[in-house]
Amino acid sequence: VTADVLALVQFAAGPDGISTTGHRVVPVGDPVLSALDLAATRGDGVFETISVGRGAPQALEPHLVRFARSARMLDLPAPDLDAWRAIVLDVAGRLAAHDEAWIKTVLTRGVEGADVPTAWASGAPSADFSAARTEGVAVALLDRGVRSDVASSSPWLLAGAKTLSYAVNMAAKREAARRGADDVVFVSTDGALLEGPTATLILRRGDLLSTPRADLGILAGTTQADVFAWAHEHGLRTEHALLSPSDLASADAAWLVSSVRHAAPLRAVDGAPLAVDVELSNAMNRFLATRVR
Ligand code: PLP
Repeated sequence: VTADVLALVQFAAGPDGISTTGHRVVPVGDPVLSALDLAATRGDGVFETISVGRGAPQALEPHLVRFARSARMLDLPAPDLDAWRAIVLDVAGRLAAHDEAWIKTVLTRGVEGADVPTAWASGAPSADFSAARTEGVAVALLDRGVRSDVASSSPWLLAGAKTLSYAVNMAAKREAARRGADDVVFVSTDGALLEGPTATLILRRGDLLSTPRADLGILAGTTQADVFAWAHEHGLRTEHALLSPSDLASADAAWLVSSVRHAAPLRAVDGAPLAVDVELSNAMNRFLATRVR
């Protein structure tokens, strides 16, 4: 996946610290990142991936809030959200010809010793996710190797922050492929369902949608939040809960939801088939494709 649009954030150091002075759009091939940037050498930074429909960013405010939260968890300078909103809207506008696109915002600790962050936003049209949205994905349950209280017991592990250190998440996806699956649901060492490497888990049991509690060391999903608000309007109940693999095995249906792929129903868990709720999946995806904010 290559970007079509790239915008660099400009900073200035003043008496009150670092401030954002604006951004400029540059050719995507320009060499803009130093090999000495702590993003490159340590994965030390945070990001967001925002979906864009016909030039309109979706769930923009929740993404900006979460970007700031991740930065706070890493003791990075607070992102200037007014400046970031303007950047995202500028990049999104340049992608208005596409039904579906994505924008990634990145904030790093900058070049070691320079004390100035590095930041940019890139964007491109999305891949075609129709197979995952309609036929569904097979998942492998993988042990994440941490307890469900990791966020409070070991905050330095940054569980629940959207950091650039996604090598582990990508390794889990490769392990899933070795097991003949398309995606992953992580499980804590004490047996709690957590999340996918890039998506939030939702189960349906009757008219109740359940998602793992955000205090279990997982990322609070913007897509899950929007799906729950939509579900309330459609007569479904919702809860944040402590869920186990047996809850998933006995669920009426389940999904991995995320900003760009939207709702991917689970069609199998560790090789055991799970029913795909075609009607609710289609309704969810229709809603997710058209939401704006
Ligand atoms: N959980 C993780 C670990 C993620 O990386 C993501 C998104 O990339 C999500 C959940 C879903 O979040 P959102 O719906 O805000 O895209």
